Formats: sequence, C-alpha cells, structure tokens
Amino acid sequence: MSAVSAPAGIVRLDPRSLRIKRFSALTTMVLPLLGTVAAGYLLVTGQFTVTDLVLFGVFYCVHLGGVTIGLHRYLAHKAFRTSPWFQDVLMAAGSMAAQGPLLFWVATHRRHHKYADREGDPHSPNLHGTGLKARLRGLWYAHMPWMLSDESSKWSVYAPDVLRERRLVLHHRLYPTWVTAGLVLPAAIGLAVGHTALSAFSGLVFGGLARIFVANQAAWCVGSLCHAFGSRPFDNGDKSTNNWWVAVLTFGEGLQNNHHAFPGSYRHATRWWEPDLSGWVLTALGRLHIVWNLHEPSAARIAQKRQEPHRVSP
Ligand SMILES: [Zn+2]
Ligand SMILES: [Zn+2]
Repeated sequence: MSAVSAPAGIVRLDPRSLRIKRFSALTTMVLPLLGTVAAGYLLVTGQFTVTDLVLFGVFYCVHLGGVTIGLHRYLAHKAFRTSPWFQDVLMAAGSMAAQGPLLFWVATHRRHHKYADREGDPHSPNLHGTGLKARLRGLWYAHMPWMLSDESSKWSVYAPDVLRERRLVLHHRLYPTWVTAGLVLPAAIGLAVGHTALSAFSGLVFGGLARIFVANQAAWCVGSLCHAFGSRPFDNGDKSTNNWWVAVLTFGEGLQNNHHAFPGSYRHATRWWEPDLSGWVLTALGRLHIVWNLHEPSAARIAQKRQEPHRVSP
C-alpha cells in the first residue's frame, strides 16, 4: 500500500499578504469587465473605428503570445532557449496579460502540473464533489475564484531557478509597470491615430481592458473546461482534456491533455492538424534562430504513449 504524502510547498498567507493578493486579483477581474461593458456600448452605438478593432486584435496576440510562449512554454517549462533581448520581450508581453507577476505565475503553474487534479492542485475543477451542483461549483472555482484563495505556492520550492536569475526577478518586480504599459500603449496609439480624447479612450478600452478580459476568459478556460470536457488521447493520471475551440482561442493551450502528457515540449499539438498557433510560431522563430534548443518528444515516444492503457475514466 503506498502512502499519499501531503502536498508540499504550500503556505497560508498572513492577513496583510492575503488582502494584497485579493485586491490585486479582484482589480484584474473587475476593471477589465467594466472596460468590456464600455467596449460593448461603443460597439452598439457605432462609436468605434477600425483602429480600435486592430488594437484589440494586435494586443490580443501580444497578450496570449506572451503568456503561452513566454510565461508558459519558456519560463515555466523551459521548452526552448532564447537570447536576453527576446526573453525581455516575452516577459514584458506575458506580464501585460495581468495574470500575476512572474514568480506567482510560474510557481502556481508548476504546482498545477505536480498535483494535477489531486489535492494540492491550485485550480482543479474536479475536487469539489461528484453531483451536478458540485461539478459546476468546481468548474467555476477553477475558472476564477481560485485566485482569491488564502494559500500560496512557495517560490523557493516551485521557482528557485527564476529566483536565481536577476533579470527575471526584475521583470517580476516590473509587473505593475508592464500591466500599465499594456493599457497606456493602446490608448496612446488610439490618440496618435484619432487625435481626440474619445479615440484615446476607445484605444484603452479595446486594446487594453476588453482585450485583457476576453483573452483571460479564454486562458482561464484552460484551467476549468480543459480539465473537464474534451478528448483524452493520453493517459496522464489526471483529468486534462483536449478542447479544440479553447485551443484556437488560446493559441494551442487548449490541447491540455497533450500538454500534460509532454509538459516539456514546445509544441502542444501532437499531430500537424491540431490547432497550436504558439507551436507554429515557435517553429518559425526557431528557423530564424531567434529561439533554439526546442524540446519535443520523438514520434515513437508519442505513439508509445498513445498506446498506454487508460487508468482515468473519461
Ligand atoms: Zn492543466
Ligand atoms: Zn504547463
């Protein structure tokens, strides 16, 4: 009989740290929501321009590119290497997503992999019971409220490599600056193009706040829906799933079952036709020598893993 050890590297926050964490999390949930309401009003009343839509699209790509390629595949999983200047670009873009500072992001994510869908997973939808109500509560918790919990993943346990690198710690500290830059930049571009206060405001709303809201809702579906609904081609001993529409919206992250099977791979697709925009971009960046040492499992390893019997019921 094997003993199940308690999850490691989890601390209860003191009241002051908890207040700061909750204030910061609620701000990044509520302000983008208000901005999205404003964007909806501008859309319905026809008070928007092509520039606003372009700003939304471009900053959506910067946002998700920064998270998926930068924070996730590069920093949390070390799936490839790159130069200091491109690392700076990735860390700035990833921080603009307002998903929390670098050390928080990496430590939380690595703990998610270590305890996926077991006690200790910071955002599993599968730990709240089996009835319909409990399942729905779990899905909602894994989508957003987990960010308000009173626990924290120890950086020294889950991200010692990040703590050791001064340049990365600097980006961690610059988090509020990068988030602000992600709001000011689209506003400034809107102003430069339209020359009116409304054009600056709509730039802020479309390229900044609504973009953060929409992109993060898509990204958080990875933690909620992609551990509940979809296909499970690989047996990872967890409940991770592949979900195509989430994968399209999140540049490949919705191929969560593939990713849990091969977490160190720069690609989340295991077949060429699976939607993995970040994987395709990384392949192109590799050809341009902007990134290198791109890790991926061999075709034989993928085929072998595909054959392993499933222990987890669908
Ligand atoms: Zn996962
Ligand atoms: Zn991961």
